[in-house]
Amino acid sequence: MTIFCVGRNYVDHAKELNNPLPKKPIIFCKPATALLKDNKAFYYPDFSKDIHYELEIVLKIGKNGKSIPMEKASEHYSHIGLGIDFTARDIQQECKEKGLPWEIAKGFDNSAVLSDWLPKEELNLNNIQFSLTKNNSLVQQGESKDMIFNFDFVISYISQYFRLNVGDIIYTGTPSGVGPISIKDFFEGYIGEKRMFYCEIK
Ligand code: ZN
Repeated sequence: MTIFCVGRNYVDHAKELNNPLPKKPIIFCKPATALLKDNKAFYYPDFSKDIHYELEIVLKIGKNGKSIPMEKASEHYSHIGLGIDFTARDIQQECKEKGLPWEIAKGFDNSAVLSDWLPKEELNLNNIQFSLTKNNSLVQQGESKDMIFNFDFVISYISQYFRLNVGDIIYTGTPSGVGPISIKDFFEGYIGEKRMFYCEIK
């Protein structure tokens, strides 16, 4: 199982980090050991002092494919989930400055919070509204229609480089409002009104 992630897929988030808008999706991977499911707590690791939350819609691949054309891409994902792409912003900043890969800032253990899945038929895929609360206050709010690269584009693009297999998952990028986490914080992610996950920081 591979975890793919898209960086800078919302205009307002790219702006808040002073990043230029990408002309092509920015793709990176996390190892399977990054997954944090079943509302388990996240333990703050000691290698970073600035871990940020990034709330993201997650796709589950339901059909194998390689070099998938855009018009067939929607056949290749079956479910929608919600997750957090935890990011060690201090380490990422160092990697970016030196032009180095991001894996240690993005792919560490338990850095990929994941909810249960909803069948995609249950959602209006062009207008999924999702939000994140931190200690009961709203911190992030997004709509899938604001993605720079939509689900079909992302699947088609990734599959040009990586064969997609059933069970692979794709984090599709975060809207604005990212910020730091602290021990004792409590996060809840929603699609519409439905609470998809909670995650306590320990
Ligand atoms: Zn992200």
